[in-house]
Amino acid sequence: MSFALSGLGVTSGIAIGRVHRLTPGELFIPEYHLKPDAVEPEIERLQHAFSRGDAFLKSLLGRLDDGGGETARELLEAHRLILRDPMLIEASESMVRELRINAEWALVRQTEILQAEFRRMADDYLSLRREDLEQAISLVQRELADQPATLIGSQVPHELSDTVLVASELGPAEMTVLAQRKVAGLITEHGGPWSHSAILARSLEIPMLVGVPHALELLSEDETVILDGHYGAVLANPDEGLLGHYRDKREAWQRRLLDLRRYLVRPSRTIDEQPFTLLGNADLAPEFERCRNAGVEGIGLMRTEYLYLGDSLPDEDSQYRAYRAGVERMQGRPITIRTLDVGGDKLPAELAFTQGPNPALGLRGIRLSLAMGDLFSQQLRAILRASVHGPVEILLPMLTSRDEIRLARAAVSRCREALRGEGVHVDPELPIGGMIETPAAALIADELAEELDFFSIGTNDLIQYLLAIDRSDELVNYIYDPSHPAILKLLRSIRDAGQRHNISVTVCGEMAGNERTARLLLGLGLTRLSMPPALLPAVKRSLVEADAGQCRRLVDRYLSGGSAQISGQSLLDALNDSTSAT
Ligand code: PEP
Ligand code: MG
Repeated sequence: MSFALSGLGVTSGIAIGRVHRLTPGELFIPEYHLKPDAVEPEIERLQHAFSRGDAFLKSLLGRLDDGGGETARELLEAHRLILRDPMLIEASESMVRELRINAEWALVRQTEILQAEFRRMADDYLSLRREDLEQAISLVQRELADQPATLIGSQVPHELSDTVLVASELGPAEMTVLAQRKVAGLITEHGGPWSHSAILARSLEIPMLVGVPHALELLSEDETVILDGHYGAVLANPDEGLLGHYRDKREAWQRRLLDLRRYLVRPSRTIDEQPFTLLGNADLAPEFERCRNAGVEGIGLMRTEYLYLGDSLPDEDSQYRAYRAGVERMQGRPITIRTLDVGGDKLPAELAFTQGPNPALGLRGIRLSLAMGDLFSQQLRAILRASVHGPVEILLPMLTSRDEIRLARAAVSRCREALRGEGVHVDPELPIGGMIETPAAALIADELAEELDFFSIGTNDLIQYLLAIDRSDELVNYIYDPSHPAILKLLRSIRDAGQRHNISVTVCGEMAGNERTARLLLGLGLTRLSMPPALLPAVKRSLVEADAGQCRRLVDRYLSGGSAQISGQSLLDALNDSTSAT
């Protein structure tokens, strides 16, 4: 039976393939020691997880109908008994108290003890109970994790070029595995088009649809689907006619991508001779190559998180090799390396303990680096060592105050001195810039400019924090509006602060990589844009065919009262209609 589902297209691409469903995989179970004052709250957390696990079983029991399901009922009752067993709860609590270990770890250890006892009394009945114990405990572990399971590589086939992968949500670590395996397309039930996995999909030109409710239930394994990113649609079980139509469309889309590439060799000037600068966002090796081939003037943003999202945290040498490879690939063009910005929707397993109740507002970016001095120094040393091989700039994420910059600069100086002692001489003038991506940083941009060598505006987070919407929550995605007058006013004031202090201002959020919003930025006088290489050709065409003066007039009129009469969408339409030569 053919049917259609809808969601939000992250790229305008088209994918055709067979469905592979990614159901929640193994849980990550952290193990760490507690400070004395964290013990009692941890015991409460454990008790809470037990009672939520029990409540879940109770609700399942309530849904079993009277007629059947006796085995299921017995099983669920048995699991409830396990979860209420004092041997398990109290013993795990004492472990937390006496050994000062986290709840997850205590549960693992207590389960091992109970299992060993079961093994000693070997008989079939008890081996069944052992399985019950594992299943019941995994419920509590899931409650403690309060997160969907993480992907394990073995869940996905090695060759995915004919596969459209369907998942509840995808994290950046999973995205890297999927990209390596050349997945044809991606569909997720959750997530917004500005989440990190969506950014990666755009960057790697993988057609992707996010916010497709119940996709995992509605799409069956192996059925053929068409993913249309432009219309935000999934067409399941299409007939031959539709398939043929979409194969043609896919070809036309691929031809358009090729056609746009001819703009890359044009000078970076608008039709009224306003120069602009295009830079690349690159994290993975192929992106560096593509940026260089696209003729960028440098790398405006190298996110370093991906190095940290593997099985273990990277050491100084492996980071040094990755940064040096980036520097060498750019053959003398500067690369801006952003220090670790984990937290929010990107968190390595070994740093999971830093996750607070609201990760977007928690210990992320520069806060985490300053709180974990050794981790920060290790990264800074690796960056400084790489800078010996070509021009490097350091970028600090999630700034909110002048003090953070001073502390970070002091850390850089300490690392530079230590390296000098080891015979590695690092340029003392190495530029240090800051991400302007919190409302606080934007509002004190003049102060921050006194401490920084350049600004880079992170519009993804700036919009998230200014409009108070979670960038990965599809339910509030409709509010995520880059043309909101509050955003435009703030962007203009950041540009002004940069000009007053004579430092460069780059935009490296997704607004820069969108051909329509790029003209909005041009109208605001923001002419240094950094974006994933896949988006460079379309943005370049948009800018070389734009009239910068006309864009400025439209944006000025909008900001000096026009926003009461016309919507942001109409402004974008006007910017993109009136000055386009195509
Ligand atoms: C941003 O916030 O706009 C940005 C470029 O950083 P990230 O998307 O990594 O948060
Ligand atoms: Mg950001």
